[in-house]
This record gives sequence, structure tokens and C-alpha cells, in this order.
Amino acid sequence: MRPFACPNCRRLNHFEVRVCPSCKATLGYDPNTDAFRFLADGATVWRDGGGDVADMVVCYNNNAYRICNWLVGSHEATKLCRACRHNRTIPDLTEPTVPQRWARIESAKRRMIHTLLKLGLPLENRTEAAGLGVQGLAFDFLYDAAAEKAGTPRIVTGHDSGLITLNLIEADDAQRERIRNAMGEPYRTLLGHFRHEVGHHYWSRLVEPDPEEREACRAVFGDERIDYQQSLHTHYSDAPTRVWTDAYVSYYATAHPWEDFAETFAHYLHIVDVLATVGGFDLSLDAPTNGAAHLEVDVNFDPYTAETRALADAMAPLSFAMNAVNRAMGQPDLYPFHLSDAIVAKLDYVRKLVDKGRVRTQIHQVHVEAA
Ligand SMILES: [Zn+2]
Ligand SMILES: [Zn+2]
Ligand SMILES: [Zn+2]
Repeated sequence: MRPFACPNCRRLNHFEVRVCPSCKATLGYDPNTDAFRFLADGATVWRDGGGDVADMVVCYNNNAYRICNWLVGSHEATKLCRACRHNRTIPDLTEPTVPQRWARIESAKRRMIHTLLKLGLPLENRTEAAGLGVQGLAFDFLYDAAAEKAGTPRIVTGHDSGLITLNLIEADDAQRERIRNAMGEPYRTLLGHFRHEVGHHYWSRLVEPDPEEREACRAVFGDERIDYQQSLHTHYSDAPTRVWTDAYVSYYATAHPWEDFAETFAHYLHIVDVLATVGGFDLSLDAPTNGAAHLEVDVNFDPYTAETRALADAMAPLSFAMNAVNRAMGQPDLYPFHLSDAIVAKLDYVRKLVDKGRVRTQIHQVHVEAA
């Protein structure tokens, strides 16, 4: 995502900001305008930089638990923001490590929801969805301390009919890294989990109800009617039958067409968000290539609506450069993946699906000027 300026002093801040480090104004994110609003000088009304006031209040999860920095319209029936109203179960906060883990989870979730809002995808919680007769999106955030201590986590992170369950074990860096190594994955993050699981939700929300779309999806990812449990069983067995070719974004994507779709959906969100960030900072690349020619890459387009080819053409060289920057700091690669033509074709299916599924005009793009 692009950087966000403090509406009071114009300092650029991260999306998680609650108090501007420069002017000390209290900040809150307004998902209706995709910009921050502020409270300063004892004011109780949220304002933007232009002096416009908004009839908004802080999200209940900000007031009660201090884990959210979004605002919600004071007239809305719920006192939970656009991101928090999808929570069905929150973890037992009396467990000592839980509040911090939950905060990390919420922060990753808000980034994922931000991209969904920017893409204009349908986004209903279960209450809103019931009225429309569609599948809503809900989250269960669960923690089983005893099982974690015994090394036998029984809560499985996954998706079922719009319900995403996330085991809080994933918010513990050491545990997540251990699982990443055991699974042989190049990348495992909370944000990645959200983007993958919400991919399953959008398969059920946008593909499943439409016979033609199901056929189109099958033509790209394979027939999802093959036995899912059996496929996963084979995938995790000592003799997996599928090989990771460059037609799949990850080894896990080979397990079943549903997983291939969810993994590809996650990568679409990864790429769009990385390019929106690069574009938001006006970063560009001008690197010598094999010959004398220079390769110039600019994100001078809107990644949320751009053609897949434009996304891939920018992402490949930019991610190579950003991987080099990360390696300069001894960090893992930012994007440890190769975008083959076969993967770009799958991403293109996802992009067209998103385009078709778009129900809202994108949230208002506010131009940021650095101070
Ligand atoms: Zn400020
Ligand atoms: Zn919230
Ligand atoms: Zn999955």
C-alpha cells in the first residue's frame, strides 16, 4: 500500500500508526476515504488535513483492547470497524502471550482487508451476508496453550465456508519459523496466511455459485472435484505424487486445485500490494541488463486494476532488486518466487475474476505529498 501522511503535519507514517511521532496527534484510519484522520488540541471530532470533520468514532477493539487503529461511522449499527466486524471468536486474553499475538494477527488482517477494499471486492460479515443470501467472511482466532506446550497443536489454520480459523501459534516467530522449516517453505507469514485463506473464501463466493466460472477455473487450475482429503493426505505422505514445476507458485499449490487457486490468489494480493507500495513511494528501477540497454521499471499505473502483464513485468525486476536489498541486510528474500508464464496465466485468471467480482468503486485515492 502507499504510505500514509499524517493529516495534521504531513509526516509519512506506517499503516499501524496510532499517534503521529512528529506532531503527537492521535491518528485513526478512515476506510471510507483511505486516509488517516486526526485528533489534536483536545478536539473530540476527527478531522482530515482539509479541515473536513467526520462523524466517526474509534473502533470498539481500539477502545477496549487497543489492537485496532481504524475508525467506524458513529451512525453504524456496529461499533466495530470494517476489519474487526468479521471476527467471530477472539482468543482468551487472560493467557499471558495472547494479547500481543492477537495484536499481530489483527495488524496483518487489516493489511489484507485494506487490499480487498482497494480492489473493491465484495466483503460482508456473516450478518451482512445473511441478508443477501451469500457467503460471509468470518474469523476464529484460537489458542490452545496446552497443546502448544506439548508440541501437538490441534487447532488447524484453514478455511471452511467463509470461516477462517487461525491458530495463534502462527503469531509466535520461533514457532512459525520452525513450521516453515519443517514444511520446507521459502515464505510463511501471518499476512501470507490471511491472503491464502481469503482466496478460499473468494473461490466459494465468486467461483462456486456460477457453473460457467467453475468450468473456467477448472481449465486453469484443474478439476477441484478430486478428493480433497485424499489429495492432502498424499501431499503430506512420504511418497507425494506431485512435483513442484514452475507452473505452481509454491509446492503446497500442487496439493489440490483449491490450494493452487488460494496460493495464486495470495500471490495476486502480494504483487498488487508490493507494487502499490513501490508506486506510492515513487520508487523506480533503472538497471543495466545483459546488453547495453537499461531496464527501466516504473509503477506508473494503478496496480489494483492493472493488467496482469503490467503487474508481472514490473514485479519480476523489482522483486529481484528488492531481494538484493534484503540480502544486503542479511534478511530473507522479499519475494522468493519466480513468475513463470504458466503462473502469470493463473494470476491472470485471478485478476479477471477480481475484475468481474468488483462490486464497489475503489475507495477514494488520496494523493500523498511528502512533507
Ligand atoms: Zn503528525
Ligand atoms: Zn477495528
Ligand atoms: Zn488452503
